Amino acid sequence: IVLADINQKRVDTLIAAGAVVSIITVSLLVLYLIRAIVRPILLFKEGAFIIRSGNLDHRINIKDGMEINLLADEFNKMACRLKESYADLEKKVEDRTKELNELNLKLNELSITDGLTGIYNHMHFYNRLTDEVHRAVRYGRPLSVIMADIDYFKHYNDTNGHIEGDHVLKEIASCLRRNVRDQDIVARYGGEEFAILLPETGKEGALVMAGRIREYLLNQTFPHEEKQPGGKLTMGFGVAAFPDDADDPKCLMEMADKALYRAKKNGRNRVEGYEALSGIPHSCCDTTDRQENCIC
Ligand code: GH3
Ligand code: MG
Ligand code: MG
Repeated sequence: IVLADINQKRVDTLIAAGAVVSIITVSLLVLYLIRAIVRPILLFKEGAFIIRSGNLDHRINIKDGMEINLLADEFNKMACRLKESYADLEKKVEDRTKELNELNLKLNELSITDGLTGIYNHMHFYNRLTDEVHRAVRYGRPLSVIMADIDYFKHYNDTNGHIEGDHVLKEIASCLRRNVRDQDIVARYGGEEFAILLPETGKEGALVMAGRIREYLLNQTFPHEEKQPGGKLTMGFGVAAFPDDADDPKCLMEMADKALYRAKKNGRNRVEGYEALSGIPHSCCDTTDRQENCIC
């Protein structure tokens, strides 16, 4: 019985020792699993979250994960490639935006330019005139317009052909541009009619400027002009001023046109200023056909 007890105690001790060893082994195994598998998985999870949040510079650093190291390498390569693609995309978007802005500028330029002469077109002239009249009203400043029309241009076309006529239109446009200030607007108003907007300029100043342009043109030589009546290519000019002659953009142009008509009637190659018979500025606002651009 005593021997049997001793043996039983030995067996119990052995079982207890075996259990302790097993617990220690399992604990070590669990620790190893945590270190080798669970921790890397958590690192991947955290890395994916950081990259998803926009930080493409983030990389995963696992040194002792055996095969998981390979996975971490691939993950980092993927993040690296993602960053490169993103940078490429950003560069492409930046380039395209720049191209688009340049095209928009060109398009805007084209929309306000006369195709033949390269100066402003009728629409832009009218928009600027409306703006300038508003400004003149607000600050009580003067402004004037000149309407200019080539004399006997039909004759020029009939004699020399339309292509030569077009060439003259271009020449005249650059002559006009050369003779105005930077803030003045020169536009092709119609077929062979040009309009000049002179901000901060009263009637007298505009008459002087129109006279100077007329003389300048007389000193220029245009192809085939000897075949024109009088042997020279000339222009007639009509001048009207705000607020003396009209109190809105449309009427101002009408008054300049009337003055131009007088320049034609009185022999061409001359400058005429609009003279209101009543001495009161003409106003479209007074008439029943109230105009859109009327400033009353
Ligand atoms: P006036 O002295 O009274 O101004 O006579 P004009 O012959 O210049 O005037 P008219 O209105 O009879 O003729 C204008 C001419 O302008 C008619 C047309 O052939 C010409 N014209 C209009 N636009 C263009 C254009 O773009 N190119 C060319 N070559 N000619 C044009
Ligand atoms: Mg003409
Ligand atoms: Mg004309």
